[in-house]
Amino acid sequence: MRISDDRYHRERARMELALRFLRHEARTQTIRAWTGLSDDRIRKLYRSYLGHARRQLPRHRGKSPHQVAYFTRSLRLQEETALLASVLSLLGVLPGAEAAATPGLTRGELLCQAFEAYRLLLPSAQISFEHAVFLATALGRGDQLRLASCSECGGLLVTERFPLRSVRCQHCSATVPPRA
Ligand SMILES: [Zn+2]
Repeated sequence: MRISDDRYHRERARMELALRFLRHEARTQTIRAWTGLSDDRIRKLYRSYLGHARRQLPRHRGKSPHQVAYFTRSLRLQEETALLASVLSLLGVLPGAEAAATPGLTRGELLCQAFEAYRLLLPSAQISFEHAVFLATALGRGDQLRLASCSECGGLLVTERFPLRSVRCQHCSATVPPRA
Protein backbone atom coordinates (compact mmCIF):
# COMPACT_ATOMS: atom_id res chain seq x y z
CA MET A 1 0.00 0.00 0.00
CA ARG A 2 1.30 3.45 -0.92
CA ILE A 3 0.53 6.61 0.90
CA SER A 4 -0.01 9.40 -1.58
CA ASP A 5 2.68 12.08 -1.68
CA ASP A 6 0.16 14.70 -0.72
CA ARG A 7 -0.96 12.92 2.39
CA TYR A 8 2.62 12.17 3.35
CA HIS A 9 3.67 15.81 3.02
CA ARG A 10 0.67 17.03 4.96
CA GLU A 11 1.31 14.54 7.77
CA ARG A 12 4.96 15.59 7.88
CA ALA A 13 4.03 19.28 7.94
CA ARG A 14 1.70 18.60 10.90
CA MET A 15 4.47 16.88 12.88
CA GLU A 16 7.00 19.60 12.07
CA LEU A 17 4.63 22.33 13.12
CA ALA A 18 3.78 20.46 16.33
CA LEU A 19 7.51 20.17 17.17
CA ARG A 20 8.02 23.84 16.47
CA PHE A 21 5.09 24.69 18.77
CA LEU A 22 6.47 22.33 21.45
CA ARG A 23 9.86 24.04 21.30
CA HIS A 24 8.06 27.32 21.97
CA GLU A 25 6.42 25.66 25.02
CA ALA A 26 2.91 25.73 23.57
CA ARG A 27 0.18 23.88 25.42
CA THR A 28 -1.33 20.66 24.10
CA GLN A 29 -4.72 22.28 23.39
CA THR A 30 -3.02 24.98 21.28
CA ILE A 31 -1.01 22.42 19.30
CA ARG A 32 -4.15 20.34 18.75
CA ALA A 33 -6.06 23.36 17.45
CA TRP A 34 -3.34 24.42 15.00
CA THR A 35 -2.11 21.04 13.73
CA GLY A 36 -5.16 18.80 14.05
CA LEU A 37 -3.05 16.12 15.81
CA SER A 38 -4.65 14.22 18.71
CA ASP A 39 -3.52 14.82 22.30
CA ASP A 40 -2.09 11.32 22.35
CA ARG A 41 0.08 11.92 19.29
CA ILE A 42 1.27 15.26 20.67
CA ARG A 43 2.32 13.59 23.94
CA LYS A 44 4.14 10.83 22.04
CA LEU A 45 5.87 13.39 19.84
CA TYR A 46 7.02 15.29 22.92
CA ARG A 47 8.31 12.13 24.60
CA SER A 48 10.13 10.80 21.54
CA TYR A 49 11.71 13.98 20.25
CA LEU A 50 11.92 16.41 23.12
CA GLY A 51 11.73 14.27 26.25
CA HIS A 52 15.49 14.48 26.80
CA ALA A 53 15.24 18.27 26.88
CA ARG A 54 12.51 18.19 29.51
CA ARG A 55 14.35 20.42 31.92
CA GLN A 56 14.84 23.12 29.28
CA LEU A 57 11.36 22.71 27.84
CA PRO A 58 8.74 22.62 30.56
CA ARG A 59 5.20 21.63 29.59
CA HIS A 60 2.62 24.10 30.75
CA ARG A 61 -0.64 22.76 32.02
CA GLY A 62 -4.03 24.33 32.36
CA LYS A 63 -5.76 26.92 30.25
CA SER A 64 -4.14 29.00 27.55
CA PRO A 65 -4.09 32.76 28.15
CA HIS A 66 -7.42 34.47 27.58
CA GLN A 67 -7.20 37.93 29.19
CA VAL A 68 -6.72 40.74 26.68
CA ALA A 69 -5.86 43.09 29.57
CA TYR A 70 -2.47 41.32 29.70
CA PHE A 71 -1.31 43.26 26.62
CA THR A 72 -1.87 46.67 28.21
CA ARG A 73 -0.80 45.76 31.75
CA SER A 74 2.41 47.81 31.64
CA LEU A 75 4.09 50.29 29.31
CA ARG A 76 6.68 47.68 28.48
CA LEU A 77 4.03 45.12 27.51
CA GLN A 78 2.20 47.72 25.41
CA GLU A 79 5.40 48.40 23.51
CA GLU A 80 6.19 44.70 23.08
CA THR A 81 2.61 44.06 21.94
CA ALA A 82 2.86 46.79 19.27
CA LEU A 83 6.10 45.28 17.95
CA LEU A 84 4.73 41.74 17.93
CA ALA A 85 1.53 42.91 16.21
CA SER A 86 3.61 44.64 13.52
CA VAL A 87 5.56 41.45 12.82
CA LEU A 88 2.34 39.37 12.80
CA SER A 89 0.84 41.83 10.36
CA LEU A 90 3.92 42.02 8.10
CA LEU A 91 4.19 38.24 7.84
CA GLY A 92 0.52 37.84 6.99
CA VAL A 93 -0.59 36.06 10.16
CA LEU A 94 -3.46 38.47 10.70
CA PRO A 95 -6.39 37.76 8.43
CA GLY A 96 -6.77 40.09 5.49
CA ALA A 97 -8.49 39.84 2.15
CA GLU A 98 -6.83 36.49 1.44
CA ALA A 99 -6.00 34.89 4.76
CA ALA A 100 -8.51 33.17 7.03
CA ALA A 101 -8.77 33.83 10.75
CA THR A 102 -8.86 30.14 11.66
CA PRO A 103 -5.91 28.11 12.95
CA GLY A 104 -4.21 25.97 10.34
CA LEU A 105 -0.86 24.63 9.11
CA THR A 106 0.13 27.51 6.82
CA ARG A 107 -0.94 30.18 9.26
CA GLY A 108 0.74 28.25 12.09
CA GLU A 109 4.06 28.23 10.21
CA LEU A 110 3.79 31.99 9.63
CA LEU A 111 2.95 32.47 13.30
CA CYS A 112 6.14 30.60 14.31
CA GLN A 113 8.18 32.67 11.86
CA ALA A 114 6.68 35.87 13.26
CA PHE A 115 7.35 34.85 16.87
CA GLU A 116 10.92 33.81 16.05
CA ALA A 117 11.56 37.13 14.25
CA TYR A 118 10.06 39.00 17.21
CA ARG A 119 12.39 37.19 19.64
CA LEU A 120 15.37 38.06 17.43
CA LEU A 121 14.35 41.72 17.43
CA LEU A 122 13.73 41.69 21.18
CA PRO A 123 15.71 38.93 22.90
CA SER A 124 14.53 40.03 26.35
CA ALA A 125 10.84 39.91 25.32
CA GLN A 126 8.33 39.00 28.05
CA ILE A 127 5.51 37.91 25.76
CA SER A 128 5.42 34.12 25.50
CA PHE A 129 4.50 32.09 22.44
CA GLU A 130 1.12 31.21 23.99
CA HIS A 131 0.40 34.92 24.41
CA ALA A 132 1.50 35.53 20.80
CA VAL A 133 -1.00 32.87 19.65
CA PHE A 134 -3.66 34.56 21.77
CA LEU A 135 -2.78 38.00 20.35
CA ALA A 136 -2.99 36.70 16.76
CA THR A 137 -6.35 35.08 17.56
CA ALA A 138 -7.80 38.14 19.31
CA LEU A 139 -6.65 40.52 16.55
CA GLY A 140 -8.00 38.08 13.98
CA ARG A 141 -11.41 38.02 15.65
CA GLY A 142 -11.30 41.79 16.18
CA ASP A 143 -13.89 41.66 18.96
CA GLN A 144 -11.67 42.64 21.90
CA LEU A 145 -8.48 44.03 20.37
CA ARG A 146 -7.68 45.76 17.13
CA LEU A 147 -4.80 47.46 15.37
CA ALA A 148 -4.85 51.24 15.37
CA SER A 149 -2.40 53.98 14.59
CA CYS A 150 -1.20 56.73 16.86
CA SER A 151 -3.11 59.96 16.16
CA GLU A 152 0.15 61.93 16.31
CA CYS A 153 2.84 59.90 14.58
CA GLY A 154 0.86 57.15 12.85
CA GLY A 155 2.82 54.41 14.65
CA LEU A 156 1.07 51.05 15.01
CA LEU A 157 -0.72 50.33 18.28
CA VAL A 158 -2.91 47.62 19.73
CA THR A 159 -6.01 48.99 21.44
CA GLU A 160 -9.28 47.80 22.87
CA ARG A 161 -11.96 47.37 20.26
CA PHE A 162 -13.66 50.70 20.93
CA PRO A 163 -11.28 53.18 22.55
CA LEU A 164 -13.06 56.09 24.24
CA ARG A 165 -10.62 58.70 22.99
CA SER A 166 -8.20 58.97 20.10
CA VAL A 167 -5.17 56.82 20.74
CA ARG A 168 -1.56 57.94 21.02
CA CYS A 169 1.53 55.82 21.39
CA GLN A 170 3.53 55.99 24.60
CA HIS A 171 6.20 58.09 22.98
CA CYS A 172 3.73 60.76 21.83
CA SER A 173 1.82 60.69 25.12
CA ALA A 174 5.07 61.47 26.88
CA THR A 175 6.43 64.13 24.53
CA VAL A 176 3.58 65.89 22.68
CA PRO A 177 1.15 67.97 24.77
CA PRO A 178 -2.52 67.02 24.28
CA ARG A 179 -4.37 69.09 21.69
CA ALA A 180 -6.80 71.70 23.08
ZN1 LIG B 1 2.90 58.35 18.33
